Amino acid sequence: MFEEKEKTSIERLGEFKLIDHLTSSFETKHKETLLGVGDDAAIIKFNNATQLVSTEIFIENIHFDMMYSPLVHIGYKCITASISDIYAMNATPKQVLVSIALSSKYTLQAAEELYTGIRAACEKYNIDLIGGDTSSSVTGMAITVTSIGYADESKIVKRSGAKEGDLLCVSGDLGGAYMGLQLLEREKQVFLETKDMQPDLEGKDYVIGRQLRPEARKDIIELLEELSILPTSMIDVSDGLSSEIFHLCKNSNIGMKIYEDKLPIDQQTYDTALEFNVPPTTTAMNGGEDYELLFTLPQSQYDKIKNSLDISVIGYCTAAHEGKEIITKSGSVVPLEAQGWDTLGTTEESSTEDN
Ligand code: ADP
Ligand code: MG
Repeated sequence: MFEEKEKTSIERLGEFKLIDHLTSSFETKHKETLLGVGDDAAIIKFNNATQLVSTEIFIENIHFDMMYSPLVHIGYKCITASISDIYAMNATPKQVLVSIALSSKYTLQAAEELYTGIRAACEKYNIDLIGGDTSSSVTGMAITVTSIGYADESKIVKRSGAKEGDLLCVSGDLGGAYMGLQLLEREKQVFLETKDMQPDLEGKDYVIGRQLRPEARKDIIELLEELSILPTSMIDVSDGLSSEIFHLCKNSNIGMKIYEDKLPIDQQTYDTALEFNVPPTTTAMNGGEDYELLFTLPQSQYDKIKNSLDISVIGYCTAAHEGKEIITKSGSVVPLEAQGWDTLGTTEESSTEDN
């Protein structure tokens, strides 16, 4: 008989430690692999070309819910969420591979709707769909999108590279997608309990849109290029600002101070958070799925961005030993907490470890 080995729950470990655990013993074998696991995308170089590759998986009832996500939006979001990782390297995505697994509940028309969304995103972002794989599934739908992008090697921006004194900037606004999700979940519960209720989502178009049909920040990459700005480090906000700050700090070996009153929060996000009794700051810090770009710049570049309405300076980089802190509106200094997939409102204890 085999001895029963002690089992560890994956949930306890958390997403980032799990990735580390599974991949840290793999060594890079090829000189073409400039960067492997650990950033928003891998970097591959051959001859004079540099390629970026990243993949994202989307699972029904984990990443989307057919009760409130139209398939056309799911298709669109899978593409934008995946190419966001290429933009986060300051690169241009040009090709995607899309793999799908569908259970028998899905009809041809459903699959076509999904691809209408995929096509819309490919048109908007100028992307070629070049392949994928198709399978049946026992239950539900799973979609994987692999994105391929390009950049001059000298222009690629990694999670590492931020220096003490650099400014921390974020595009757009934060927390909207999370509040959209809370609203949709609430209306789903109401519907399940009463059946004949119409969803009450009036005046919530912005946050619902942020959740169901997010955009990738191609425009910010273009703006940075126009302004001749090369960030020192960059990441996209997929898991939540706090979590991404932890990644930048870890990879760049720095600390960060951010200011609560500088966090960009849309009015609708703010009002919806209050409605749900969630502090708007918590939504912005830990919400996730915003697909905004979080990046650092030398202070000397401040003049170039100070008039851009779509970029907020939210803090600055400090020495690693100073840790990661938020200066609240009342002036107190509070250590930041990282939250990965253990999103707000779950019973998981939030982690303050460097993950
Ligand atoms: P992002 O949120 O930017 O998509 P992730 O947190 O999903 O990044 O992944 C972090 C890093 O770990 C990336 O470099 C990714 O390619 C790598 N990674 C994630 N899952 C796996 C896996 N199962 N096997 C190998 N590498 C992985
Ligand atoms: Mg990313």
